[in-house]
Amino acid sequence: MSKDEKIIVSACLVGEKCRFDGRAKKISNLVDFVKGCQVLAICPELEGGLGVPRPKAFIDSGTGKDVLEGRAEVINEKGEVVTENFIAGARKTLKLALANDVKRVILKSKSPSCGFGLVYNHDKLVEGNGVTAELLFKHGIKVVVV
Ligand code: SF4
Repeated sequence: MSKDEKIIVSACLVGEKCRFDGRAKKISNLVDFVKGCQVLAICPELEGGLGVPRPKAFIDSGTGKDVLEGRAEVINEKGEVVTENFIAGARKTLKLALANDVKRVILKSKSPSCGFGLVYNHDKLVEGNGVTAELLFKHGIKVVVV
């Protein structure tokens, strides 16, 4: 990885306590891996206006692609629809990526925002991407999850 490369990383992976439960998911190897790169840490759910802690959310009956295309909603465990927050966070993350010529991102696996390849649909893991991961992927950005 080039030292000049700017890379977006899910903020919880580099120690920010931004998860729904108020915790981080710091990956120490990741901190070593991105050392020297310009790391742009972002939490799409906070960028979308949600707080910490917040009720756990999941994509209802679909994937991030379905959410972006208007076929599915993101719902939290209180039954509130938070789709607009997730879409707003995804758009802000894409904006950050485009403004900084980001080609690759490292995101947190299985999250309804950041997950790539597998995401939670209620309590079940299904094939598909989170809302932010899908939007970045759609714009040609390489997504890696840890
Ligand atoms: S939205 Fe992404 S960055 Fe924010 S807490 Fe969830 S997985 Fe981490």
